Amino acid sequence: MSLDEHWFSEPLEPEGVAFSLRVTEKLHDERTAYQHLEVYETARWGRLMLLDGCVMLTSRDNFIYHEMMSHPALFAHPDPRDVLIIGGGDCGTLREVLKHPGVNSATQVDIDEAVTRASERFFPELCQANDDPRARLLFADGVRHVAEARPDSLDVVIVDSTDPVGPAEGLFGEPFLRDVRRALRPGGIMVQQSESPLFHSESIIGALHTAMGNAGFDTVRTLTFPLPSYPGGWWSATLGGKGADVTARRPQGAEPGFETRYYNGEIHAAAFAAPQFCRGAFGAG
Ligand code: SAM
Repeated sequence: MSLDEHWFSEPLEPEGVAFSLRVTEKLHDERTAYQHLEVYETARWGRLMLLDGCVMLTSRDNFIYHEMMSHPALFAHPDPRDVLIIGGGDCGTLREVLKHPGVNSATQVDIDEAVTRASERFFPELCQANDDPRARLLFADGVRHVAEARPDSLDVVIVDSTDPVGPAEGLFGEPFLRDVRRALRPGGIMVQQSESPLFHSESIIGALHTAMGNAGFDTVRTLTFPLPSYPGGWWSATLGGKGADVTARRPQGAEPGFETRYYNGEIHAAAFAAPQFCRGAFGAG
């Protein structure tokens, strides 16, 4: 039995699994300088963006990802003013970061301008904060941008990248992580999307813990959250602190003080719980 042409499917071959969505129309198809960018209308999940055949986001569940990539780190930091987002070209993470009134500047550096232009056209709700005077959108290689960043100039760095192949490969390496740490002020925090706890707990999450530790981050912790449209339906982000407690929540309390759909104070605490089979990879002892 196979799905007909009205279904999009993303197989994860090594795991013998696929995620599928019923699609109703292809809205966009572009070979950019870096990747194959497609946008579809789906039957029940709103719009779907793919890069090189992999799901980047759907209208229906992207809020979970964007909120969990930004709010835990921004609330763990006592006073996040200057934020850098590497990747994140759909602008959803930028929108969440700018919900924090204390943030003075949020710079997004994506290698591929075509992703942002497509998001402006097909996911305008994610781009609502692009005209905020605190936002700066650059189109350049994030590895190079961070290598050239001023030391001690940032409070939070969020790496909202594609999978660690192709242009994003360097974003998972130790030299890049060292440069991120150097660019952070003391007390600064970095966040890296770190793939599926079920499929990549040792190969990516465990390796990232080792690399962040080698790069000089003194606390490294992984949080998890559901994400139905990513392989396995369950995703992770790994945080590293430069002399910071990456799990702290300030101010204490249940609500963030602005509108969210997934994140709140209870989710913040619960997300850092390490499942038994992940404890080694997550450095939870
Ligand atoms: N986290 C989502 C996922 O896992 O499917 C990805 C969202 S976001 C659209 C990923 C972005 O990272 C893409 O727009 C891509 O262009 C960007 N990217 C990949 N490598 C990069 C690099 N070296 N520097 C800056 N941006 C990069």
